[in-house]
Amino acid sequence: VRRMASEVDAAQKATRGGDDTIFDKIIRKEIPAKIIYEDEEVLAFHDVAPQAPIHFLVIPKRRIVALDETKPEDSALLGKLMYTASKVAKDLDAKEGYRVVINNGKHGCQSVYHLHLHVIISFHDINPQT
Ligand code: 5GP
Repeated sequence: VRRMASEVDAAQKATRGGDDTIFDKIIRKEIPAKIIYEDEEVLAFHDVAPQAPIHFLVIPKRRIVALDETKPEDSALLGKLMYTASKVAKDLDAKEGYRVVINNGKHGCQSVYHLHLHVIISFHDINPQT
């Protein structure tokens, strides 16, 4: 993902501390998001600042702070996140492919400390609202 300087700055200032992030507010529907898929374990929604024509995020509802804090017992949920990325991309008719990215930690420019997969479709002609 190509990043603007402001995003790099935001990521360098973000910290792992605290028990709530903006994504918890999205999960609880306290702030709006363009949700594409939801079940009891995961949520997929369009990124508010898309880096490409289609850019959505897949998150676990149970908060995992970052990829480097995952434990063996998180393996099934990590698999579910990957599968959900694939399922949602298929539902969006992304037949020609996409990128899946996880930013981890300060040097990975992670800005929201609630694990998320970025799914990015750089070239396409499908409707981002569907
Ligand atoms: P990170 O840099 O942590 O990997 O990515 C965080 C992503 O969350 C960024 O792409 C950013 O645009 C997105 N984001 C941050 N706040 C919100 C929000 O309130 N709503 C949505 N839909 N996306 C957000």
